[in-house]
This record gives sequence, structure tokens and C-alpha cells, in this order.
Amino acid sequence: MQLQGLNKSFDGQQVLKDITLELPEKKTTVIVGPSGSGKSTLLRSLNLLERPESGHYELSSLAIDFSHEISTKQLLNVRKKTGMVFQDYNLFPHKTVIQNVTEGPIQVLKKNKKEVHKEGLALLDKVGLAAKADAYPEQLSGGQSQRVAIARSLAMHPEYILLDEPTSALDPELEAEVLHVLAELAQERQSLVIVTHNLFFARQIADKIIFIEDGQVIFDGDPQDFFDENQKSSRISRFISAMT
Ligand code: ATP
Ligand code: MG
Repeated sequence: MQLQGLNKSFDGQQVLKDITLELPEKKTTVIVGPSGSGKSTLLRSLNLLERPESGHYELSSLAIDFSHEISTKQLLNVRKKTGMVFQDYNLFPHKTVIQNVTEGPIQVLKKNKKEVHKEGLALLDKVGLAAKADAYPEQLSGGQSQRVAIARSLAMHPEYILLDEPTSALDPELEAEVLHVLAELAQERQSLVIVTHNLFFARQIADKIIFIEDGQVIFDGDPQDFFDENQKSSRISRFISAMT
């Protein structure tokens, strides 16, 4: 996917400034940057949860010009190709774990219930939660909840999975479970875009790092270069030392 010249303002304040980026397919892109720099707004724009005022967005065969109105068809197509995983999981509280995972494929994609159920169980197994299929979200730990949210996203077979600080609500031990699942997906070449404050994880998993400050892309490239002492700009150095 590609963005070109993206601009987004809230109440007259510009929070994304002429963002041009490539988020490669089958790779893991990690977005980092200070609080308030525009990371969530950028990620949400990829799913059309936010509407930039201008800019172009390409997602496989889809092309969107944000200065024009977005049709319902375009919206649905983008949502189909992108799955969003939120910091606070957003599970349906009155549905069981397996129902959470199968709801979208049955209701939205109109897939065969039996097949969806079978795949849902396989996905729960993949995230280490086969035993929790019939539990309710309130019976799960944060790490388990987030893994259900990831399984639910996978069940829709999006091209990209977008994750906004998927582990920042979790204790380190629970965080590790979720990071393990994400590392596996990355290895399977699921296209991922992850916003995180965890630079250790970013370094481990990222094929590409994007550093945003004040709504602008300051760095876009190889993780090694981002963390390389000799190549770092003073802005990147300051950010890394503040975060670690
Ligand atoms: P954090 O690391 O704290 O999550 P972030 O990098 O995700 O920060 P954003 O949430 O994208 O930052 O916010 C960027 C800027 O846009 C901030 O100044 C924020 O106050 C502002 N902003 C975000 N959403 C809205 C909104 N719905 N209405 C008004 N201003 C907003
Ligand atoms: Mg954010």
C-alpha cells in the first residue's frame, strides 16, 4: 500500500503533514514516534476511520483520492482489505470467544457457518487459545483478549492487519504472548502495520521502520539504520534514549 501527500487536520490544527509512504506487502512495518505525533491518525486513515483532507491512497487494486468523496463501495473494499486491532481489544462482551472470531465471516462475508467455525477453532489454536473457545471475554486476561482480537482479524483474511499499540495495556508477561503471535504472523509474511512504543520489539520484528514526529515522516527505512548509532539524526537519538 502507498500513501502520497496525505494531509489531515483536526480543528484547524494539521496533524498529518504531507505524508508519503510505502507500506510494503508481506512485510512488517513498524510506526514509532512521540505521543501526539499522529501515529494513530495515520493508521486509522489506512482503514478510513479517519478521512484526510487530501492525498492519494493505493491499496492493491484500489485507488482513493482523499480530496474527493469516498463511496460506500470504496469504504467497504478498504475495510475488507484491512483489519484493525485496537489497544483495548474491542471484543463483543456478550459473545463467546469463538463467536467473536466467527461473527464477521458469517455476518459480513456470508460464509458457510460450519466452515467458518472450523477455521475459527484453527485460528484460536494458532494463537494458543483453543481451550478458551467457549469462554466470554470477561473471563480472559488482557493478553488472551488481544490474541482473540488478532484471531478475529485473521478470520476476515484482510490483506493488511493494522495494530495500534496492541500490547500497551498489557503487563510484560502478557505482552510477550502477544508479541510471539505477531512474530509468527510476520514470519508467515502476513502484511502487518504496527504502531508501538516497544522499540525492542520493533527492532526484532520490523522489516521497515517509520518514525513520525509532529505529523511528519522523519525516518522511513531499514531498522538497522534507524538504530545505528552512527547514522542516527539527533531527533532519532533523542527519541530512542527517551524510550529505552
Ligand atoms: P499516542 O502515542 O499518544 O497514541 P499518536 O501519535 O497516536 O499519540 P494521534 O492520536 O494520532 O497521536 O494524535 C495526533 C494529534 O491529533 C494530537 O495532537 C491529538 O490531540 C490530535 N487528535 C487526534 N484525534 C483527534 C480528534 N478526534 N479530534 C481532535 N484532535 C485529535
Ligand atoms: Mg496513538
